[in-house]
Amino acid sequence: MAAYEYETHDYDVVVVGAGGAGLRATLGMAEQGLRTACVTKVFPTRSHTVAAQGGIAASLSNMGPDNWQWHMYDTVKGSDWLGDTDAMEYLAREAPKAVYELEHYGVPFSRTEEGKIYQRPFGGHTTEFGDGPPVQRTCAAADRTGHAILHTLYGQSLKNNAEFYVEYFAIDLIMSDDGECQGVVCWKLDDGTMHVFNAKMVVLATGGYGRAFFSATSAHTCTGDGGGMVARAGLALQDMEFVQFHPTGIYGSGCLITEGARGEGGYLVNSEGERFMERYAPQYKDLAPRDYVSRSMTMEIREGRGVGAEKDHIFLHLDHLPSEALAERLPGISESAKIFAGVDVTKEPIPVLPTVHYNMGGIPTNYWGEVLNPTKDDPTAIVRGLMAVGEAGCASVHGANRLGSNSLIDLVVFGRAAAIRAGKIVDADSANPTLNQPSVDKAFDRFDGLRNAKGSVPTAELRLEMQKAMQADAAVFRTTKTLKEGVETMTKVAAKMDDLSVTDRSLVWNSDLMETLELANLMPNALATIHGAQAREESRGAHAHEDFPKRDDKKWRVHTVSRVDGNKVDLTYRPVITDPLTTETEGGISLKKIAPKARTF
Ligand SMILES: Cc1cc2nc3c(=O)[nH]c(=O)nc-3n(C[C@H](O)[C@H](O)[C@H](O)COP(=O)(O)OP(=O)(O)OC[C@H]3O[C@@H](n4cnc5c(N)ncnc54)[C@H](O)[C@@H]3O)c2cc1C
Repeated sequence: MAAYEYETHDYDVVVVGAGGAGLRATLGMAEQGLRTACVTKVFPTRSHTVAAQGGIAASLSNMGPDNWQWHMYDTVKGSDWLGDTDAMEYLAREAPKAVYELEHYGVPFSRTEEGKIYQRPFGGHTTEFGDGPPVQRTCAAADRTGHAILHTLYGQSLKNNAEFYVEYFAIDLIMSDDGECQGVVCWKLDDGTMHVFNAKMVVLATGGYGRAFFSATSAHTCTGDGGGMVARAGLALQDMEFVQFHPTGIYGSGCLITEGARGEGGYLVNSEGERFMERYAPQYKDLAPRDYVSRSMTMEIREGRGVGAEKDHIFLHLDHLPSEALAERLPGISESAKIFAGVDVTKEPIPVLPTVHYNMGGIPTNYWGEVLNPTKDDPTAIVRGLMAVGEAGCASVHGANRLGSNSLIDLVVFGRAAAIRAGKIVDADSANPTLNQPSVDKAFDRFDGLRNAKGSVPTAELRLEMQKAMQADAAVFRTTKTLKEGVETMTKVAAKMDDLSVTDRSLVWNSDLMETLELANLMPNALATIHGAQAREESRGAHAHEDFPKRDDKKWRVHTVSRVDGNKVDLTYRPVITDPLTTETEGGISLKKIAPKARTF
């Protein structure tokens, strides 16, 4: 057994992650007087949320008529009927409250002439239950909305005495023998000390796993650590086959150009100068949802109408927009286009390509953020002591496809919901659980094994192999053949985890070891993705299967539940929750309105 000395910290709640979701949960917990620690591997304001540009959706009706029922309908349709209806209602209803709270906490939103929060159009957000024109629902602070939210929430959390453990890397969950989460084992990156956090509630807010792919808009820190920890604890991941490709990553670098650019009037053209989205989505054109636009772009490229020497990308035009509007509403992306594509957006189009952007799947939860361990008899069984929020979680409000600006709102609505729930179920006066020592020892043993790994494959090499396989075989279009190959390749790639080579054995700022721990987390996320995709013989949202081009609600309107053990994946399914929280007579949405139908735009 590996012998590591460690310090133990007792808290009511430990939040792992300080992005938008982690900080909103931390703030909410601390406001209620719970002793709250927030553990994060990067400085809070360096979390990926800081890069969110376009905005946060809420039906404030500041720029025209809107209501939560329309927002809910768009979310249901956007999800291609795979989202859980109770959670989607909760999201749309609570969204305005959560945004006004952000405003009162101090988020510097852009303003309308009369001083209200500025809102812009975004893909898939409409009026009149999808029958009316696009709605202006996405609240924005220029094109730096995530930045504004993150800084505000961090300041507020400090003000409410939440305690931050910055540059602490969470390694594994501590689980009791009867399946309760009791805390988390961490490694302090800057001095090599080890720390055990003992808590009545652990909240995973570790973000997505975009870095399982070769080209992604997400930060290099988005390595699905929460999903990895959950998989190792024998718990489930859900709907992992649904990976969102954002239509406008800059060709080459993958750096994001926000959908807000199309919201402000930008449009896509092919090599013939044609605005092809008019053909694919006559009603909403460039503002159709992301899965739709990404697929249309890929079709254009495949049919030989891509731009550039290799005819392998598409142009995004902003040069027809007034330069004052670009400077005021989209200053950040004007800068990104200059740096990463050498393009002056006032004069030339930006070369773009669909790029991995968001993980709809994640750790299954109910709409309070409580983690589920679905069984046949009880598909919504709760794991005591464990919550998951933000991109790491799957509530599931995005189903098979997320609408733009629905993630930032998911972070704050469910971060807040988790805090409200914890306020009810965590007893601040009770004693902390007695830690299950074998579970702590197991975490240190695994850590020690990787630290001393003496195999033949360097971490960076294996990571690249995984990223290339995922990019090739779990892409915008999938076929029976590519998915079969993907499963075979990924099974071999994952087996090489036993043959890793780590050269640096130190404990202080050992980036080799940290990247190895991250790779060990990416791997189960990637495996669950490719296996879930191979099994799902239909097309729904972001999962476009060429050999099964139709959605099959009879067989496949179910959540994929995957459990990963080493390089093996076990798949089961749980029903989608189809009942909303309120009925039509209570002011809710009618079941007829949200019944599945063909998804066209
Ligand atoms: C470029 C870009 C632009 C986007 N724009 C928008 C937008 O305009 N609107 C919108 O709605 N959505 C947008 N999205 C999506 C949205 O920003 C993300 O889904 C969201 O920010 C994720 O937030 P999070 O709090 O779940 O995780 P993150 O912000 O990714 O934070 C994860 C946190 O977990 C911590 N962590 C992870 N692993 C560990 C570990 N092992 N130990 C300790 N700490 C750990 C990290 O330190 C970090 O603090 C965008 C995404 C990208 C990539």
